[in-house]
Amino acid sequence: MQCPLCERVQKTNEGSYPFIIHEFKNSYLYLGEHQYYEGYCILVTKTHFREMTDLPQKMRDEVFQEMMICHEAIQKVFQPKKMNLCSLGNVVDHVHWHFFPRYADDQNFKNPPWLQMNLFDSAKTSPEKRVELIEKLKQVIPAM
Ligand SMILES: [Zn+2]
Repeated sequence: MQCPLCERVQKTNEGSYPFIIHEFKNSYLYLGEHQYYEGYCILVTKTHFREMTDLPQKMRDEVFQEMMICHEAIQKVFQPKKMNLCSLGNVVDHVHWHFFPRYADDQNFKNPPWLQMNLFDSAKTSPEKRVELIEKLKQVIPAM
């Protein structure tokens, strides 16, 4: 079975995945296909690794810096009360991180974002929203 994140990386390389925000040396930052939590993004390594510990040491360090740039960019644009950064991989075992900005007016603020996952599809990212949010994030990333 093909890995869906390898497929996404492939599409990105071909220029046919519209949720791309930024290309780093080792990873791609994508806007989430839903925006249940506004500013939701995913960072995906370009190469398929099952565990973070499988990355060579130099790449681990570089990817960590890439992750921090993403975190700061999302923080700057959306100003959440707290960022939830998750790496699980039980469903897709290709190293990736979810950035869930969490806001003060969230009634479920103290709960993990996944408890709302049945509602994610109700907040599919519209093409207009996609363009708007990607542009906002692109504007802050090169400066970092
Ligand atoms: Zn993969």
